[in-house]
Amino acid sequence: MSKLIAGILRNESPGMEEIVTLLQAKGNDRDALFRKAAEVKEKYLGNKVYFRGLIEFSNICHKNCYYCGIRKDNNHIERYNLSDNEIISAARFAFENNFGSISLQSGELENSLFTGRISGLLKKIKEISGGKLGITISLGEQAEDVYREWYNAGAHRYLLRIETTNRDLYGKIHPGDNNHSFDRRVECLRSLQKIGYQTGTGVMIGLPFQTIPDLARDLIFMRDLDIDMVGMGPYIEHPDTPLIAHRDSLLTLQERFELSLKMVAVLRILMKDINIAAATALQAIDPFGREKAISTGANIIMPNITPGRYRNSYKLYENKPCTDDAKEDSIYTLESRLVNTGAFPGYGEWGDSPHYYTRQKIDRLNTTDI
Ligand code: SAM
Ligand code: SF4
Repeated sequence: MSKLIAGILRNESPGMEEIVTLLQAKGNDRDALFRKAAEVKEKYLGNKVYFRGLIEFSNICHKNCYYCGIRKDNNHIERYNLSDNEIISAARFAFENNFGSISLQSGELENSLFTGRISGLLKKIKEISGGKLGITISLGEQAEDVYREWYNAGAHRYLLRIETTNRDLYGKIHPGDNNHSFDRRVECLRSLQKIGYQTGTGVMIGLPFQTIPDLARDLIFMRDLDIDMVGMGPYIEHPDTPLIAHRDSLLTLQERFELSLKMVAVLRILMKDINIAAATALQAIDPFGREKAISTGANIIMPNITPGRYRNSYKLYENKPCTDDAKEDSIYTLESRLVNTGAFPGYGEWGDSPHYYTRQKIDRLNTTDI
């Protein structure tokens, strides 16, 4: 390892330039970065990995993000919306299989019918699991009172990726209208924190026009916002989206994958006790992508438990793993694949972000972890 990297890795709180150097590390330097991140994870979080059974319950969206395959104007996909019973059965499956937590995700809708439906589902899921299933939701930008209603109905974690913290880049990957405002997204994150959610954000890595300093600033944003959880992964192009026009300017998929692992590793060093998810998009590039992220600092896996027949329609990007997930994401397969990374599943546990409790100064012993 070079002296430069050794020095940076000794620094508890690296700055912008040092983060850029870490993200550019190669060969032995890169291996040293990954080793350091693994050490930090082991020291602060041990070697447990927590599951969030992912239910992608609808691909209906009122937004038009230029990168996303389920954007409103994409007419090449079949729209679906799981029934309440299908969502509850998937949640019951997660509970009975000891996943500990679920994550409800969908396209974005902002209306009272949607708000009420989600509140009803959250209460029902709490009821069928005797309050024991942890619930993360990822339902986009909403008014603060909607976030509060869902919190009171039983959701306790919210994931809202900022996508990129570079305003200009944000403007290039979204339509320039009020429905896609960078400032509103930041405000939403602040509302979520204020209400008391364990709050998560994240970015896409390898977007067209994105630079390494942009990514370093993304990590600093997460640290400055004192975020509890992060889900970030490679941007992968989708043929039926406007950003496909920039396909030729992208890093190779392998480079985006590598950069994503480095982002996870550097973030683990910056924010030692937060939850970091191994993004599904990593698995679209490398069949062992999620396990590799676990080895380099991530501690959360989101097995897809959406009923199989709908998975093909939640295609955010090309090659999104879907057909074999039921087999690949069975708890036994996951466990055996995790063993190779030295990690083991925290069966039946919520696996909350320890950082949240430090931030809120809440005594961990008073929580309802099971
Ligand atoms: N609609 C909600 C929202 O946007 O926050 C939640 C669901 S959305 C599909 C979840 C995440 O998918 C987004 O935050 C975005 O980062 C990611 N995503 C969308 N298109 C992608 C792509 N082409 N490559 C990688 N990730 C993508
Ligand atoms: Fe809709 Fe989310 Fe896709 Fe944007 S990223 S188009 S909000 S599903």
